[in-house]
Amino acid sequence: MPAYVIPAPAAPTVAVTGDLARFPVHRIYCVGQNYAAHVREMGGDPDRTPPIFFAKPADAILADGADLPYPPRTSNLHYEAELVVALGVGGRDIDPRAALGHVYGYAVGNDYTRRDLQSEARQQGRPWDTAKGFDHSAAIGAIHPAAAVGHPTRAQIWLAVNGAERQRSDIADMIWSVAAIIAELSRFWTLAPGDLIYTGTPSGVGPVQAGDVVVAGIEGLGTVTNRIVALA
Ligand code: MN
Repeated sequence: MPAYVIPAPAAPTVAVTGDLARFPVHRIYCVGQNYAAHVREMGGDPDRTPPIFFAKPADAILADGADLPYPPRTSNLHYEAELVVALGVGGRDIDPRAALGHVYGYAVGNDYTRRDLQSEARQQGRPWDTAKGFDHSAAIGAIHPAAAVGHPTRAQIWLAVNGAERQRSDIADMIWSVAAIIAELSRFWTLAPGDLIYTGTPSGVGPVQAGDVVVAGIEGLGTVTNRIVALA
């Protein structure tokens, strides 16, 4: 181990079902606009808008059961329930036919978004980092190993705020499949073990306030629950 001139930051990790060992997070990639109904609710045309890639810092991970302090510099914090893919094997220029062999497992996630800042960035042609890559913005439930659950292609995905359902769709409605996303991402970046990929949200996104309890779930992959609390 090298010596460090300041305390070394802790490596972010995610719980794995049926295992005391944890999944170490390398990078967090995200896909935008991967469900046609959500593309339409954001004012786009799903036939003309290819899914887009963006990223969050690895330490934006928010564990199941953890509180989310309402982030500063927004008055329109939104939830986005998403299927998350956890990679166990990296690579570049991955063949879509071999892509699922790179997957360690799957989880349900919540891609929290400062929607007001995202709208501003879109209008002004600016980057999305302040809208998407803020502290605690990447909620994720326990990772279910593909060795146990296989590679789900059809499963209900839903989200509720204070017990009232806000989103419901099926991961079968994704425009780009998990295999296609991995293959395409690997043409832009060299993927690595520990990478997480948030695969996009269905329609029904909306705001949350301090005090709200947000639960996202995917059939067969459990849930991720977070309470929004006032920023201390
Ligand atoms: Mn998203």
